[in-house]
Amino acid sequence: MDKIQKTEEESFDKTQDEWKKILSPEEYKVLREKGTEPPFVGKYVNMHEDGAYHCRACGAPLFSSDTKFDSGTGWPSFYDLMHNGAVELKEDDSLGMPASPSLGGKRTEVNCARCGSHLGHLFDDGPEDKGGKRYCINSCSLNFKSAPAETPEKK
Ligand SMILES: [Zn+2]
Repeated sequence: MDKIQKTEEESFDKTQDEWKKILSPEEYKVLREKGTEPPFVGKYVNMHEDGAYHCRACGAPLFSSDTKFDSGTGWPSFYDLMHNGAVELKEDDSLGMPASPSLGGKRTEVNCARCGSHLGHLFDDGPEDKGGKRYCINSCSLNFKSAPAETPEKK
């Protein structure tokens, strides 16, 4: 039997040039080179609309506006994922986004589970009543899609 071939849609094993065609230079730097956008400039830092935040590179749904909170860090922050397994976590010792001093500089990198693109970092200083996690995500790694206006169905 031949190996099951990945469909076009599932394959995110793109070359540098292919990614550069899809992403802006800023997005490429963050998503593919693990860059970090400056704090307080990202377009989703102060976004409060209802909707879902998708991976900018592959469109996978990652975070819901329901779990977004104001962390004061200057980056969009979420205390939970939209779906378990939406991201892959990886220990990260490199410099970039400042870790909270209480964590001794230890950071966990957050990557899209579907396409492997870098999204941001996970810290343990999120809201305690919500589990204490803080997904600190670059705005340019995300693509916000507002929720369709829900019409509550009454029975
Ligand atoms: Zn992705």
